[in-house]
Amino acid sequence: NASPTVVVIPGDGIGPEVIDAALKVVRAVLGDELEIVEEQAGYSLWKKRGVTIEDETIERCREADAMLFGACTTPEDPEAKSPIVTLRKELGLYANVRPARSWPVPRPVDTEFDLVIVRENTEGLYTGCECEIHDGVTVALRKISEEGTRRVAEVACDLAEERSGRVTIVHKANVLKLTCGTFKRVAAETVERRGLEWDDEYVDAAAYKLVREPDSFDVILTSNLFGDILSDLAAGLMGSLGLAPSANLGDDAALFEPVHGSAPDIAGKGIANPVAAILSAAMMLDHLGYGEEARIIERAVEEVLREGVRTPDLGGSATTEEVAEAIAERVATG
Ligand code: NAD
Ligand code: MN
Repeated sequence: NASPTVVVIPGDGIGPEVIDAALKVVRAVLGDELEIVEEQAGYSLWKKRGVTIEDETIERCREADAMLFGACTTPEDPEAKSPIVTLRKELGLYANVRPARSWPVPRPVDTEFDLVIVRENTEGLYTGCECEIHDGVTVALRKISEEGTRRVAEVACDLAEERSGRVTIVHKANVLKLTCGTFKRVAAETVERRGLEWDDEYVDAAAYKLVREPDSFDVILTSNLFGDILSDLAAGLMGSLGLAPSANLGDDAALFEPVHGSAPDIAGKGIANPVAAILSAAMMLDHLGYGEEARIIERAVEEVLREGVRTPDLGGSATTEEVAEAIAERVATG
């Protein structure tokens, strides 16, 4: 009887187009089982109200069981905060989970693969502590804490338990002896305590190996900047940013979003690839306990892509709506 509540933030640009598509597929598999609360955030709200996200929206997100986020255009005004960064901070979303796998579409590397990158989302080089120490000399602070590393390592272990049982720790501890040394040590201790296996890789070597042997990876655990870069590389291996879903997880909150942004260059044309948003919704259903429904969506995506129903970013000529319709139909007929 207590249906899960989901706050949906479509955002700007192609955000509302791909979120529409994702909700169509969710309805095809679950009917009206989810309590959907739609909220505005982003550039359009900024123009109307002078804020990119309202406090009441943040409160609704805090109380919800999950959030589904499209994409927001970041206003150029330095006063404007990115709504997604605000939500990550306010809700303590410390783990960024980005699965990457080969789908039946044209790809730069033919090898089939299925991996997931777990990126620390709150510290590393992205603490915002930068300063000029002398004229013309600037520095940034890189923060790695034992607790920050342990909690994200636990998320990687949760995933590894359901997959290969192995976590690959990616770092650069040969140069960044103290910060990366801490990351590697605490990550390894956590994996061992969970009774799982680990190996490790320097980040530069990992980038090289990802291109040449993406199938040699399963769960990759890494710090903020390295994860940011490697996950875009992994999206490139998939053949389009329009196929890359993600989850932002904390202890009491979970936000799901496509990796891509608001893509102003194609917004309003009806040609955005909705698959990243649809797969993000599938990850959300999995999180909410609808694992079977999530698998049904993934199978439908696979079949529809194999049949060549694809948007222009994948070399096809289908519209956003046609791809969403095809997946929703496939889902409904099982
Ligand atoms: P982008 O991801 O929006 O677009 C990069 C390129 O990929 C563009 O050529 C775009 O057309 C293409 N692309 C992206 N998603 C696609 C899809 N689903 N189907 C087909 N093609 C797709 O990145 P950008 O251009 O650097 O940023 C545009 C705006 O989005 C900026 O304001 C940026 O700040 C914002 N942004 C927001 C988020 C977020 O809300 N999480 C993430 C990244 C960028
Ligand atoms: Mn990025």
